[in-house]
Amino acid sequence: MFLISDIIKRVFFPDDYGCIVCGRRGLHRKEHGNAVFCDKCFATVKRVGDVVCTKCGRRIGSEDSLCESCAKHDMRFDLAASVYCYEGAARTLVHRLKYSGAQWVADIGAKQMAEAYDEEAMPADVITFVPMYPKKERQRGYNQARLLAEGFAKRLGKEAVPQLERIRNTTPQSELDKDERMENIENAIGVAENMKESVEGKRVLVVDDILTTGSSLDECARALKEQGAAAVYGLCLCSVSEKYE
Ligand SMILES: [Zn+2]
Ligand SMILES: [Zn+2]
Repeated sequence: MFLISDIIKRVFFPDDYGCIVCGRRGLHRKEHGNAVFCDKCFATVKRVGDVVCTKCGRRIGSEDSLCESCAKHDMRFDLAASVYCYEGAARTLVHRLKYSGAQWVADIGAKQMAEAYDEEAMPADVITFVPMYPKKERQRGYNQARLLAEGFAKRLGKEAVPQLERIRNTTPQSELDKDERMENIENAIGVAENMKESVEGKRVLVVDDILTTGSSLDECARALKEQGAAAVYGLCLCSVSEKYE
């Protein structure tokens, strides 16, 4: 119940909180997804924009090309997109969502994802999310990708379906380099036993919080396509721009 009242308060009484990043109150309000940013913090929120990797959707330096990660690995998802570059205030907020229990960030993020979602480019029969290892999810109390997927799906009048599961625990991807990430997550995700039949022939949209190398999404696509999914798309709140990798 804490979560619901926290969201309601932030939506209806945003001034009580000041800037959701730095806490400053008063002047220089910028309404953004039912949240209030100060000018200074808002200036650091960067949308991914138009010059993106044609596969994973991260911001890159030149048009109509692949990022380094997608050029090197034959990604098994069909296409992915994200809303923000993983830097500045967007990075701060996602950090809070992941590590400080700020579940209300997911509601703001889901709204932005629903507005940015291009249904023609990524038509989905099913919406799901990148799963967490059960023990890790119990420790955190929630899976932030699931919260984003549920908020996103609700805005489309749909439901987020838990189709995938972590089969084994892995080293946190954030502790590894690009190639290690790929190896670390290979065969770590599977389609849940009771979902196997519902995957066949379906176009599946997988929601996640951050796209870094694309390896988690690639592993989800492997599992879903082995089970007969017709297409796998990815939608992330943030992605790491190429120059920062
Ligand atoms: Zn601020
Ligand atoms: Zn890419």
